[in-house]
Amino acid sequence: MRKNIVAGNWKMNNSLQEGIDLAKDLQKVLNGKTIRCDVVICTPFIHLASVAKEITTIGLGAQNCADKVSGAYTGEVSAAMIASTGAKYVIIGHSERRAYYGETNVILKEKVLLALANNLTPIFCIGEVLSEREAGIQEQVVGTQIKESLFDLSPADFGKIVLAYEPVWAIGTGKTATSAQAQEMHAFIRKTIAGKYGKEIADNTSILYGGSANAGNAKELFSNPDVDGGLIGGASLGVDKFLPIIEAF
Ligand code: PEP
Repeated sequence: MRKNIVAGNWKMNNSLQEGIDLAKDLQKVLNGKTIRCDVVICTPFIHLASVAKEITTIGLGAQNCADKVSGAYTGEVSAAMIASTGAKYVIIGHSERRAYYGETNVILKEKVLLALANNLTPIFCIGEVLSEREAGIQEQVVGTQIKESLFDLSPADFGKIVLAYEPVWAIGTGKTATSAQAQEMHAFIRKTIAGKYGKEIADNTSILYGGSANAGNAKELFSNPDVDGGLIGGASLGVDKFLPIIEAF
């Protein structure tokens, strides 16, 4: 069956030492606790190799990878390089990458293929912007993102993907989707997957919610049948804020 996952996205925060300390502190509080979900932290590239040494039960991920294998691409970091640090996950298609760095569904498809080729689990982000939600076309937008980036994958490869539904209007805004809005979109996403790959694969796909999730709303969001955890930005930057979200399962 599908896994429940709480993944932190540190974004562009923390010096190297601050990141090491945060990872160490989180691992320390998790040790000896009974946790009912997988816990992942997605750090900036510079933290990966050092943080990998500090964690045992926490999964490690990057926040992006290059759409090229290797070579003369100054400033880029490849999926193979990420995997060589010990990371097992990579966020692909975060709305901030789509909006600020021009990442299209076609580019993201390449990134997914390279992540999978290097045994990284893509945490693939999808979600509509506010004007699309207001126009009532959120399903069309999210359906297109999924189809154009993921639906050429083999069933076996699709089965390795984690999805994160992140309504862009809820990211970092303090405005969370209601529990009903989250469930409605997650059910639509699962139905879309079932239409292409069948019920079994759809039922086994973890679909995380992201967008101003916090200690106060995580329990209600995660109680929905199609919400399998969260991708957490701001509230993953402190153990005090992240732990209650992990413990919401
Ligand atoms: C995110 O960056 O994926 C995110 C959901 O951020 P926040 O929790 O801060 O809204």
